[in-house]
Amino acid sequence: MSSQAGLKVLVSRAELKSTVDKLAADITRDYHDKNPLLLGILKGVFVFMSDLVRRLDFPLEIEFVRLSSYSSGRETSGNVKMVQGLEMDIKDRHVLVVEDIIDTGTSLASLLDYLKKKKPASLKLCALTDKPSRRRIPLKIDYLGLTVPDKFLVGYGLDCDQKYRNLPDICVLEE
Ligand code: 5GP
Ligand code: MG
Repeated sequence: MSSQAGLKVLVSRAELKSTVDKLAADITRDYHDKNPLLLGILKGVFVFMSDLVRRLDFPLEIEFVRLSSYSSGRETSGNVKMVQGLEMDIKDRHVLVVEDIIDTGTSLASLLDYLKKKKPASLKLCALTDKPSRRRIPLKIDYLGLTVPDKFLVGYGLDCDQKYRNLPDICVLEE
């Protein structure tokens, strides 16, 4: 249980740790000699990204973009905006997009299209969690942590109206 009312732990901090360990091992195997660019999608990814990169013991670079599709609250508006864009040149780079949760796939599909036009050497996707039951646009997730049920999740970077990002576990926000 979380100490905050209305929250039920779905993925504990211990399970998150072993999930990130496994992802880091897979990414190390594939990228240790490629000087990859890890491209995180703000804001939700900030906790996962910081845990992940501290387990990657090889040369890499980090960049962020910020997308906004949720106007507020829990429902995607379907209208994806890049609120903070890419500052680095990704041409000929091995780019690994890092996302906290994939839901309908709308925000990622439009970002991946945008990135492909910039001619990276390779473009892959790592997601901590996936809600496949909600997908509207098919996506290949190259490195997936956990499949989660169709519930609204908060914690470990995920918010509801900018709150709860600081919770160390992933929790279900109950009505
Ligand atoms: P998509 O474009 O795939 O529908 O939405 C992806 C984005 O919506 C995620 O990166 C995340 O920011 C947000 N999102 C999707 N599901 C959840 C959820 O259960 N909880 C929270 N806090 N955000 C979510
Ligand atoms: Mg996100």
